[in-house]
Amino acid sequence: MLDDSDHDHQVCRSRAVARAEERCRDEGLRLTEQRRQVLEAMLESHAPVSAYEIMDRIAGKTRRPSPISVYRALDFLVAHRFAHRIESRNAFLACIDEHGHAASGPEAPLVFLLCENCGSATEAEPAELGGLLAGIAAAEGFSPSASVLEVRGLCAACRSAGHHHHVHSHSHS
Ligand SMILES: [Zn+2]
Ligand SMILES: [Zn+2]
Ligand SMILES: [Zn+2]
Repeated sequence: MLDDSDHDHQVCRSRAVARAEERCRDEGLRLTEQRRQVLEAMLESHAPVSAYEIMDRIAGKTRRPSPISVYRALDFLVAHRFAHRIESRNAFLACIDEHGHAASGPEAPLVFLLCENCGSATEAEPAELGGLLAGIAAAEGFSPSASVLEVRGLCAACRSAGHHHHVHSHSHS
């Protein structure tokens, strides 16, 4: 589903932008031109992109934005969960589905399925995970402010194309 060649990605993109516009209206936030440009640049594919790739994508269409303006837009988009930061790749992913972000607080967990073959990232529904993590933290007397789970492996498209996990044999001393 997330291979850009086998679905109508235009639908994903316009849905994600429409959802961001709607939430901005409901929550009294401003989707400025800069913020929308950055969101749209991220939505060109389902692979997480670095801030510099975002700048390049925007530069390909209009004027090259300054790094600071892109980082500011990213701060806004990530803070309000229109996009997410994928720490292990130092990259950003636009939120394609709602995943209840409007209703859940900023401490609600995020789950990402990262394909090691094609580089795609899928955001999964955290469902019961919030309660489970809260229980684990509470047992340690710990108060969590954010939980992000990155799951690495092979996406459905790569699996059906017959790719296999790379087997790394590292020897640790
Ligand atoms: Zn798509
Ligand atoms: Zn999301
Ligand atoms: Zn894949």
